[in-house]
Amino acid sequence: MSGIGAEGLGAASPHTINHATGIRITPDTPKIDAMLAYAAHGFKCFMLSASKVPLKNCDDCTEHHLTNEQREACECLTCHGFYSASADPERLREMGRRNPGGLVAIRTGAVSGLVVADIDTLDAHGADGITTAATLIKDGLLPRTAAARSGTGGWHLLFAHPGGWIKSGAHRLGPGVDIKGDGGYFVAAPSRHPRTGQPYRWLNDTVSLPLTPLHPRVAERLREKPAPAPSGRPVGLPHIRDRYVIAAVEGEVQRILDTAMVGGRNDALNRSSFVLGTLVGAGVLDQLDAETALRAAAEAVGLIAWTGERQVDATIRSGLTAGSRNPRRLQGAR
Ligand SMILES: [Zn+2]
Ligand SMILES: [Zn+2]
Repeated sequence: MSGIGAEGLGAASPHTINHATGIRITPDTPKIDAMLAYAAHGFKCFMLSASKVPLKNCDDCTEHHLTNEQREACECLTCHGFYSASADPERLREMGRRNPGGLVAIRTGAVSGLVVADIDTLDAHGADGITTAATLIKDGLLPRTAAARSGTGGWHLLFAHPGGWIKSGAHRLGPGVDIKGDGGYFVAAPSRHPRTGQPYRWLNDTVSLPLTPLHPRVAERLREKPAPAPSGRPVGLPHIRDRYVIAAVEGEVQRILDTAMVGGRNDALNRSSFVLGTLVGAGVLDQLDAETALRAAAEAVGLIAWTGERQVDATIRSGLTAGSRNPRRLQGAR
């Protein structure tokens, strides 16, 4: 199989790779072996807790790593859920050693070269993804590819990532058919579902490779488009006297306005809230003024319409709070 080169074999235990058809993982494959085999094909792996929720962050990460960029750059072994996913054999072995009861998960998106259509069942999830998927399959939109049965009886279909930003989300292909793309993950064999005790199991116990490309029409539908340019200067910016502080606030507002993708704008809001929080902490910016400015920027770029007011307020608050715990040291002329 051309998909797995000699460099991959060094990292994976040989019995997990079948060159004729793909990666062989049975419910009895040791978790570390499975992760190494996935990683050899570029699927980045991490571990969830035995109860299927992300492992707890260390205190330092809880306090300081609040933006996605910080989470991505973090070097902790198991903090920040899928951000800890890796293809490095040493890291994967250590993850497995530290969390023998954990569930093996694979990060989706361009980092792993894959997008997963996650088909839910009426029984387990209250949405009939099977019927939705049947229609998509009939229309040729979900071609044959590597597939796994989930521990609750649903299905995971794996497709090659088409490039661009494929946003993860529930019901993106219709009722009960979720997409795990960029910013997502799924639980994979040899994990077992903590509630049902049932294994996540590849069809024929094999990840058939190479993955089929996502259908172009589906890719087109799922690909995140640049958000429309904001309409001029946000209204309702607070009146601030201090020139240094005005410049800082305007800089952060502009940074949010300049972010092209809606998904990226939430990160920008998070980061800018942190930055302004450092000024609140330093005592030169009023907390209410910072909230007002950030909210105006979020409104202007459509974030409030997109994620809702509560999400925006929560993002602003957590960023401001974290930033104010790291007050900026102000020096030189102001
Ligand atoms: Zn950490
Ligand atoms: Zn961290």
